[in-house]
Amino acid sequence: MTMIILKGIAAAPGITVGPAYKVGKEEYVVPMESIQPADIPLQIQVFEEALIKTRREIIELQKRISVDMGQEEAQIFDAHLLVLEDRMLIEEVISRLKKEQVNVAYIFQEVLKKYISVFSKIEDEYLKERISDVNDVGKRILRNLLGRERKSLKDLQEKVVVVAHDLSPSDTAAMYKRSVCAFVTDIGGKTSHTAIIAKSLEIPAVVGAETVTAKTQSGDILIVDGNTGTVIINPDEETLDSYLQEEQKFKGVSEKFWAVKDMPARTMDGVSVEISGNIEFPDEVPSVKLHGGQGIGLYRTEFFYMNRKDLPTEEEHFQAYKFVAEQMNPHPVVIRTLDLGGDKFLSQFDIPKDMQPFLGWRAIRFCLARPDIFKLQLRAILRASVFGKLKLMYPMISGVEELRQANAILGDCREELNREGIAFDKDIEVGVMIEVPSAAITADLLAKESDFFSIGTNDLIQYALAVDRTNEKVAYLYEPAHPAVLRMIGNIIEAAHANEIRVGMCGEMASDPIFALILLGMGLDEFSMPSLAIPQMKYLIRSVSAADARNTAREALSLSTAKEVELFVRDRINDILK
Ligand code: PEP
Ligand code: MG
Repeated sequence: MTMIILKGIAAAPGITVGPAYKVGKEEYVVPMESIQPADIPLQIQVFEEALIKTRREIIELQKRISVDMGQEEAQIFDAHLLVLEDRMLIEEVISRLKKEQVNVAYIFQEVLKKYISVFSKIEDEYLKERISDVNDVGKRILRNLLGRERKSLKDLQEKVVVVAHDLSPSDTAAMYKRSVCAFVTDIGGKTSHTAIIAKSLEIPAVVGAETVTAKTQSGDILIVDGNTGTVIINPDEETLDSYLQEEQKFKGVSEKFWAVKDMPARTMDGVSVEISGNIEFPDEVPSVKLHGGQGIGLYRTEFFYMNRKDLPTEEEHFQAYKFVAEQMNPHPVVIRTLDLGGDKFLSQFDIPKDMQPFLGWRAIRFCLARPDIFKLQLRAILRASVFGKLKLMYPMISGVEELRQANAILGDCREELNREGIAFDKDIEVGVMIEVPSAAITADLLAKESDFFSIGTNDLIQYALAVDRTNEKVAYLYEPAHPAVLRMIGNIIEAAHANEIRVGMCGEMASDPIFALILLGMGLDEFSMPSLAIPQMKYLIRSVSAADARNTAREALSLSTAKEVELFVRDRINDILK
């Protein structure tokens, strides 16, 4: 077997070796075969057996999911069971079988195609949603008709490297850490939410590897180097050895960082910053604490809405936030309100697909238009605020007007709770994410009406440089060190400090060691990142002086290109981390 080396985008750190497991689009093309009239009863029996087997599989899956993830997630499959009981579908297959006298698998495939095409034409978002149920069950039935097996990730005995053209954030979130040791995709960018979730799952990932699905077969041995974005298919022995050594070295270096993880993030000349964790799910809290996080700087709540068919209730929101607040108490937890849209779609809402989802009906825009949904979350955050130190923050604010509108809705929630006699922290801090260029430029105005800022560089960079953060084709233009980005960040920090509010950063740039000195030197107060990155950042901050960082930032801001900036800091940082 020849060794193939592919270069993708490093999405989550770590090096691992494992067998490939391709998660592809499951496609079957069944050829038409004539049958004898005498075979018809047998074909009907084959069809009925496939339906029974499919039903058994779905019930089994439902049981497992209800144990692993909860009752509500399991209910998703109720719709699949209903498709199996659809008399019209079953009768159409049998009557066509009798009339056309061809193999039942072929007939079923044709009926399925017809169903899907009819559903697709209906202008009803709910019915359109059903297409994926019909499709899913249809493929299961077809697979059983053909007597094929599909291994579930859950059934795997050894850990695999998942190889896919693309994985949605919810696919990634539903991955079982027990059976996945890395993943590689053809498309995607470094700050796509799929990549971000891989970091929280703490598994190495490479995205944007373009031809990886075409060049890999399930079972091939893959080296995934999530530090450099390299994927090696079927490595020779020498390469494998050197990577295994590299893997050991990576672990060794981590030990050095590990030793300082619970120490203060204080520079050699006594300037303290806060290093906190980003989470998507409440059960990531122990990992933030374990890695030495001094709080949660970003709790992305939208994942709460994913992988389910209904909306979370106020009580569910409340229980989750209360749990996180109590677990982290007395450390702060910043809950970001719903940031739906962009690359995070929620199936519950009838949202037509935007042409440019990142510029579309997203985040705070959606919440302001749907105060009914927004208020449930705001009330729950306020109610949970008495159980620890909660702060709340709005995503995608583009100017003062939107901030005031959001605060007006928050004000209504406060009044309601007062009337109902429900306690909440009256001084809860309300912050703004600065991730839209218009907000960065008017940071002085926003700072007057905010308690804190958090810079969302993942979006700020894509909007400032007009580079889609999920598109690997333009990933080379996605430059955090671009002078435009650095100037914006400098402007935001200055405006915040002039108005005596603190400013953090919760985009992926905050966790990249290359930019640590510059950000520290510009005066950033808080760095929030995936928990895995915390020990290294603590080590770095503790190894430098703030005075030195200020000089570095000044120098970096005078350079003309991102490359020059990176070149200027890279060696220094590598020396410190070595
Ligand atoms: C960001 O945009 O930097 C951010 C932290 O938010 P998200 O990645 O969830 O869009
Ligand atoms: Mg964002």
